[in-house]
Amino acid sequence: MTAQNNQVFAPGSTIGIIGGGQLGRMSAMAAAKLGYRVHILNPAATSPAIEVSASATVGFYDDPVALEDFASRCDVVTFEFENISVEGLSLLEKRRPVRPGGEILRISQDRVLEKTRLAQAGVELAPWKEVSGPADLSAVGELGFPLILKTTRFGYDGKGQFRVENAEALSALTDLPYPLVAEKMIDFQRELSVMVVRGSDGTVRCFDAVENRHRDGILDITLAPARVMPEVAERAQAIAMRIATDLGLVGIMGVEMFHAADGQLLVNEIAPRPHNSGHWTMDACLIDQFEMHIRAVAGLPLPPARRHSDAVMHNLVGPEDMARVPAILATDGASLHLYGKHEARPGRKMGHVNTLFPRGALPGELALEGLLPPR
Ligand code: ADP
Ligand code: MG
Repeated sequence: MTAQNNQVFAPGSTIGIIGGGQLGRMSAMAAAKLGYRVHILNPAATSPAIEVSASATVGFYDDPVALEDFASRCDVVTFEFENISVEGLSLLEKRRPVRPGGEILRISQDRVLEKTRLAQAGVELAPWKEVSGPADLSAVGELGFPLILKTTRFGYDGKGQFRVENAEALSALTDLPYPLVAEKMIDFQRELSVMVVRGSDGTVRCFDAVENRHRDGILDITLAPARVMPEVAERAQAIAMRIATDLGLVGIMGVEMFHAADGQLLVNEIAPRPHNSGHWTMDACLIDQFEMHIRAVAGLPLPPARRHSDAVMHNLVGPEDMARVPAILATDGASLHLYGKHEARPGRKMGHVNTLFPRGALPGELALEGLLPPR
């Protein structure tokens, strides 16, 4: 059974979600809103998603027994994170429709496949080279410095990345975790992202382009909409829609881009699932990214992705941000979302806060800092 079929799963059906984290939790809550049951597959018996879902299979993502049990308990399958084994996925695809399909997942798991496929789709990327082993390393200097090396698989929140300033630093590198990709560091004006959703009938809907800022490699703030010329925002949306259509996506996808100093939009990476840079939609849109995803997975109609307000999303990361929660709760206009994680380890995403503004009234740079109580 493939994602290409148009089967509709009416409210009351069971949606299986692979992964038990916060994206699964918020997807499960959106599914519950529409009357679905949610069944989670997760290696641990408790998790943010399991705590808000009807039931769960506890087991590893590549365990055939767990996968069989999981598949037998749901009507349609989706996932909240990408790093499921390809073998596990093909087992599932034999039993149930998987949306989006295994092919897209395989691409987004591997930066080389991803970049190759995105280039085929006709979008611009940062100049890059494959680095399968030490022998490929000297050639990456041709990209120009500074450059960045990234592990091809399992990178997230800036992990598995090495910045290289010059040729001396490059030749001094040892014991790298190959395979890698090398990318030229882009001198960007802004980092943008677009959430795009596509239904099994080919309908494509696109949220407004937003602007993202990172702190220690982790998303810190999203501004919705991005403060760019309308022409740039439209170009960003067109790129996201082109990728969604080209890949035959069914479900939602985050497309990260660099708005380069010269005005080019370069695609950084795609995530075929709900994405942290789409959390602003939970308060600033009638239908948010999670409901759009669930609708696409279930084969329901996809309404236009309308934004009724401007929004600023702040991530809450680690114990230092959890310490701010009492003050955030007492802040007028702050919509708090917590993920129910029991332990606030440094660097762990614990929740986020959305602050809304009338359309066209995003605060200026200085006021932005004062929206939430200080760290
Ligand atoms: P992850 O999978 O960890 O999100 P990314 O490839 O998105 O990995 O990189 C994380 C962040 O590092 C980006 O959001 C961006 O801020 C910075 N970065 C990554 N690649 C480049 C690049 N080629 N040029 C400039 N900045 C980059
Ligand atoms: Mg990224």
